[in-house]
Amino acid sequence: MENLTNISVVKDILSRHGFTFSKALGQNFIINPSVCPRIAEEGNAKSGFGVIEIGTGIGVLTAELARRADKVVAIEIDDRLLPILEETLAEFNNVKIVNADVMEVDLHKLIAEEFGGMEVAVCANLPYYITSPIIMMLLESRLPISSITVMVQKEAGVRLTAKMGTRDVGAVTAAVRYFSEPKLLFNVSRGSFMPAPNVDSCVIRLDVLNESRDDVKDEKFFFKVVRGAFSQRRKTLANSLSSSMGIEKSVVYDAIKSAGLAETVRPEQLSMEDFISVANTLYDMV
Ligand code: SAM
Repeated sequence: MENLTNISVVKDILSRHGFTFSKALGQNFIINPSVCPRIAEEGNAKSGFGVIEIGTGIGVLTAELARRADKVVAIEIDDRLLPILEETLAEFNNVKIVNADVMEVDLHKLIAEEFGGMEVAVCANLPYYITSPIIMMLLESRLPISSITVMVQKEAGVRLTAKMGTRDVGAVTAAVRYFSEPKLLFNVSRGSFMPAPNVDSCVIRLDVLNESRDDVKDEKFFFKVVRGAFSQRRKTLANSLSSSMGIEKSVVYDAIKSAGLAETVRPEQLSMEDFISVANTLYDMV
């Protein structure tokens, strides 16, 4: 296979196929040769593993995954890339391309049908317009996967991997930490892509927690509380929860106090256990 991080090779492939980048689909392809091998190495692409890739582009990461893992199933929404992938991935017989929107694919079925007996990891350079919805869909659907290793915008990476109780925390942080152990792996500069985006990126890995959470009384209600808590960033937890969930302030204060927290506490100061305690108490009260 030709070198898919060589700019003139990439330009030649794209122009022979008359391909033009779609900004709406978040098409910024990796041209830094050190990035894809590192995502594959740190993302569990290895013997005994099957990998789901989301968004192939011209296959630069797909090839590195296919070199290391037993099988790769790559989901790509843009059918204009299919003839290109036929050419760039011709040497691999362990790659299957699924032409679909990842949000519409039944991933439980796909894993059962394609990866019998293998451990499964997800690796991707995610389209930025839909980063959080994809990550939350992967986690919330409780797929039998070990890890999710993804390139995201730097700011998103900071939020997704923030420690609870720090100022970088948002609703998505708490949600991610509910299902996984997140880790920031490395930063990637904007010049590593073609075309170059206006922002820098980073690669994060979420190691999916297998044990179920039996300390939460009602999962749906818990996430409602988390979203409500962060819905008005500068407000106290009591004010945010009271106005976003329509619960009387005195009831919210009682729940906050019974978690051992001050009435003036802000949502970013809470640990996961604090959120669980407040949500469980509120669940019994409303
Ligand atoms: N993996 C390639 C790379 O690193 O060079 C391409 C990454 S590019 C940031 C994102 C890719 O995701 C594009 O190829 C785009 O067409 C694809 N994509 C965008 N939205 C998608 C969706 N909803 N489902 C599947 N693929 C999608």
